[in-house]
Amino acid sequence: MLLVAKPVLGNAEKIALAEVIDSEWITQGDRVKAFERAFAERHGIGDAVAVSSCTAGLHLAMLALGIGPGDEVLVPSLTFVATANSALYAGATPVFVDIEGIDAPLMSLADAAAKCTTRTKALILVHYAGYLADLAAWRSFAERRGLLLVEDAAHAAGLVQNRHQSDAAVYSFYGNKNMTTAEGGMVAARDPGVLETIRLMRGHGMTATAQQRLTARAPAYDVTVLGYNYRMDELRAAIGLVQLERLAVWNERRARLARSYRSLLAARCPAVSVPFAEAWTSAHHILPIVLPEWADRQHVMERLRGDGIQTTVHYPPVHRLTLYRDRVPAGSLPITEAFAARELTLPLHPEMDEGQVETVVGALASALG
Ligand SMILES: *Cc1c(COP(=O)(O)O)cnc(C)c1O
Repeated sequence: MLLVAKPVLGNAEKIALAEVIDSEWITQGDRVKAFERAFAERHGIGDAVAVSSCTAGLHLAMLALGIGPGDEVLVPSLTFVATANSALYAGATPVFVDIEGIDAPLMSLADAAAKCTTRTKALILVHYAGYLADLAAWRSFAERRGLLLVEDAAHAAGLVQNRHQSDAAVYSFYGNKNMTTAEGGMVAARDPGVLETIRLMRGHGMTATAQQRLTARAPAYDVTVLGYNYRMDELRAAIGLVQLERLAVWNERRARLARSYRSLLAARCPAVSVPFAEAWTSAHHILPIVLPEWADRQHVMERLRGDGIQTTVHYPPVHRLTLYRDRVPAGSLPITEAFAARELTLPLHPEMDEGQVETVVGALASALG
């Protein structure tokens, strides 16, 4: 089966894991620190905090930025549920914003402006499929209205163009992302004080880590804030260090495959459209296409599955999920709903070759008749 996404793992990761096991220190320690430094350096920022997942990082970003009960947080509905959940975790209310258009399925500035109230405190941008949102425009939008700007950068590892234009950016290393630690995430923040709060809250709010206490640099500890256990461990950091080295090459490979998809789809499936302009800055996390209105998506997915090709949908709109329909009635988001009804995600990962892209496009052309 040709999968939509696939982690690239090999001997280097096995060796890195064996080294951690031989070192006899498996929980958060020097490798986590080294991974944070390497990730920050690769992304052109001063510092970053490794956490157990992007979801945990988003939760901590909300808390450290002071977002809480009574606050409203603007979020796209065309995203993974964790984006909106992070506002709920903090006791705030997510307010769903429509996308710009079928060709640019990123959160709409105009709809965000329309959804602002006196309670709006923050907004969370998602770089859908890896395509970078216009951070300069969002920065000025946020500054004009006195809002905090947070990036759910789960699709955007390796993109360096977004450094510190937001108040916080949170990355994911889940198994299907551009680089993986199986589970894991990384948080960046503009204000070093906010990042220090996140670092503290990741480990129960304790002022000294287990390793610092062991090496007796700080045998005692205090707890100064309500924290969580959102730590990353040494095994994951060791994998992350290996993966980070290859991220740029993998993202370049993704970009090449995406270009092949675009030209083959234009030639062989002219009724299909590919969102975003080819030159749009992107980490090419996934390859979304928009089927023609007359196509039966379920039928297309079954035909492709029969040809050994997995496809998925990104995303069922969050405002239509049962939890959110009941808790935060959003009304209708017509462009999000239209896009989500026709979207199909095709396989894209660095171990694919151009021949497989041709196979997928050929299978899609015949499924569409
Ligand atoms: C994967 C993903 C997340 C969650 O990441 P985890 O590391 O699994 O918590 C959040 N937001 C988006 C947009 C994602 O794709």
